[in-house]
Amino acid sequence: MSTRPTEEAPINPQVGSKFFSAPLEIRQMIYGYIFPYGVHAYLRQGKLHSSACVEPRANGDYDGGERRDESSDWRTPGPIWSRRLQSSWGPHWKCEEVALSMGRSWEAAGDADMVMLRACKRMYIDIMTFIVDIAAVHVTDLDTLGCLLQEATTVSPGTWTVSGYLATALPLVRNLSVVLRLPLTTCKILESSSDHGSAPTSTTNATAWFRLCPAIARLKRLLRLHIWLDHDGESSWSVVNERAILSPLTALTDISGLDISVSLPHLHHRYETPERHFVKQWPSPPFTIERRLRQRYHVVETDPGRFDVSYQADFPYLYNYYRDLSEDEVE
Ligand SMILES: [Zn+2]
Repeated sequence: MSTRPTEEAPINPQVGSKFFSAPLEIRQMIYGYIFPYGVHAYLRQGKLHSSACVEPRANGDYDGGERRDESSDWRTPGPIWSRRLQSSWGPHWKCEEVALSMGRSWEAAGDADMVMLRACKRMYIDIMTFIVDIAAVHVTDLDTLGCLLQEATTVSPGTWTVSGYLATALPLVRNLSVVLRLPLTTCKILESSSDHGSAPTSTTNATAWFRLCPAIARLKRLLRLHIWLDHDGESSWSVVNERAILSPLTALTDISGLDISVSLPHLHHRYETPERHFVKQWPSPPFTIERRLRQRYHVVETDPGRFDVSYQADFPYLYNYYRDLSEDEVE
């Protein structure tokens, strides 16, 4: 969303508006149709911004082939498919294109939603109240999460800019979605730090994750926390120690009334171990785990400046085969 209404003029209560004369419940039902999947919060030039989420199945089984555009063949990615496959927004790659105004078809849909936010300050506050009370707020990087949590301790209402309002409103969120596609090296650092029983010392995403995850407890109104995790390498998810990566969540599991769920890629049964992975035969963790298909198409640099697509099948290997069968054939 563009953050254009930044003037510090007083907020017009719009007392003559028929829309605002409708009960709050009716207005929130309308907002629910406009923002069915919530909004994204992200940093741009050091300030918080928001944009519409346009992905209805962020926890779905996607292999990356659905991101291919008409300029790419299956072996050689064009710039668009290449960028999408490497997107740190993971399953929200369409939402990234909306946020960064990349001119795709779904941007028009997302932008049309956000036009309502630009109507007036009263409308903006009304919608943001709906979002923090009812809808989901998606965060796809640790810098934004850190900003949101930092603001949670320094709320200072009064000044009115869109970014400033976001900074005070978002810490009141009830439904937070954290989507992290971490570098594989970061996952390895987290594992080694956990082995030594200490937080990582390097100033990386690993440090931020160990620091920020327990700090989510500062969000006093939070009722639902959903975490989507993956690494950005071609290797199976099973190469990482998911118990180590999710160990900072332990600090949140004692919070009364907080529902925590985690979306992780499928494990490869040959490589899973109960010491490193949440396997079915062992006691369940104090949060819900959902498994999904992992991205299989990856961009690799085969020669300096030359990029190809690498397809790495992962467990379950026959997923694509069965997906393409008709129901009659399955029977
Ligand atoms: Zn999204």
